Amino acid sequence: MMSKGLIAITGASSGIGKAIAQKFAKEGFPLLLMARRQEEMEALNIDNALIKMVDVTDADAIKKAIADAEKIYGPVECMINNAGVMLLGDPVTQSPDEWQQMFDVNVKGLLNGVSAVLPAMKERKGGTVINIGSVAGRKTLGGHAVYCGTKFAVHAMTENMRMELSAHDVRFITIAPGATESELISHTTNDDIKNGYESWKNDIGGAISADDVANSVYFAFAQPQNVCIREIVLAPTRQEP
Ligand code: NDP
Repeated sequence: MMSKGLIAITGASSGIGKAIAQKFAKEGFPLLLMARRQEEMEALNIDNALIKMVDVTDADAIKKAIADAEKIYGPVECMINNAGVMLLGDPVTQSPDEWQQMFDVNVKGLLNGVSAVLPAMKERKGGTVINIGSVAGRKTLGGHAVYCGTKFAVHAMTENMRMELSAHDVRFITIAPGATESELISHTTNDDIKNGYESWKNDIGGAISADDVANSVYFAFAQPQNVCIREIVLAPTRQEP
């Protein structure tokens, strides 16, 4: 077993999750990388990483990936629930299938990640769960109704679980980015909203980078176990909402 604890990351195939993987690898941590696109994770060429093709809506697949990684690297020191989808839409016309997908991945998928590690963390009285929330988890925004619903849920659940696990020395941390360069907006099917988002991003001088977010994740994690940074909200300086 390596001296540094295992870091498990969902959505490690692109954007913020990929940047988090690269940051923790640079700091010498063994990793479990999970996402549906295996090749993208393999292309990162990280030593000391177990790569697993996992859909976070499949609770058993997450559990199995974690069990396999723990056999190699020891217990999960930090679970980073990052996988997410943002399908912006008009509530009048958006397909309920898109609402379903966002809740399945952003809320239930995140809970699958939590439940895969929490009993063991409680038992051994230690560990950290980092959930990726959003500025959209703190305020409502045009075109974001259901996405905001999923991210408000992430913020509420993370803070509530933090309270309930505090006596067991398990940390719960929410990292809430604003506009960040990634593939996220590309999945939105409403072209008017998608184009509006891109031009808003240009108007504010561009988004922050996925590396900026990864640095905040690492900063929060790297505090001593008796210090819990409960939430970090970071966004482009020129982002108004
Ligand atoms: P990307 O689209 O670049 O990355 C999303 C990641 O989630 C991918 O690795 C994707 O992997 C994974 N993912 C999606 N669905 C599933 C699934 N069913 N099972 C497993 N993995 C899945 O976007 P970001 O990096 O921006 O997003 C990461 C997180 O950051 C999300 O939770 C997002 O809501 C949040 N966020 C992003 C902001 C931004 O402006 N970019 C702002 C605030 C929050 P694959 O497709 O290979 O499965």
